[in-house]
Amino acid sequence: MICKPDAVERGYVGEILSRFERKGLKIARAELRTLDSTTLAQHYEEHVGKGFYDELVAFMSRSPAFVAVIEGPEDTFAMVRTLMGSTNPAVAPPGTIRGDLGSEMTENLVHGSDSNESAEREIAIFFPE
Ligand code: ATP
Ligand code: MG
Repeated sequence: MICKPDAVERGYVGEILSRFERKGLKIARAELRTLDSTTLAQHYEEHVGKGFYDELVAFMSRSPAFVAVIEGPEDTFAMVRTLMGSTNPAVAPPGTIRGDLGSEMTENLVHGSDSNESAEREIAIFFPE
């Protein structure tokens, strides 16, 4: 998962991580890191060329993000996504990270891998070792 630049800027990294910890998930790796456009093109491969892509990259690279590997039981990716809430914070339910802390589509605070395969692919991008 990634705490996006808006989450870091607003001081919500602790708040977000504590939700995963309260759920019983573990933080296996983590680093504060400014993401460059090459890394983001790999990470957001499926979105390259879409209408919102340039805005997405500008946002994701504007200040440091907090990149983390979250560990837990089978299908932890799905638990993380449930805690995050739907993509658009305006309609994400209260009780979720996006529902409680966000209001805008682009600045939606967090990224979570959307499958076990995506998690494996993304971990290899951010923590190749
Ligand atoms: P993420 O991949 O960041 O976890 P997601 O899986 O919920 O979010 P995706 O469809 O993968 O959503 O979109 C990636 C990101 O691109 C979104 O988190 C959002 O910031 C941005 N985005 C997606 N769709 C739009 C859109 N229609 N307009 C503006 N921004 C968008
Ligand atoms: Mg996605």
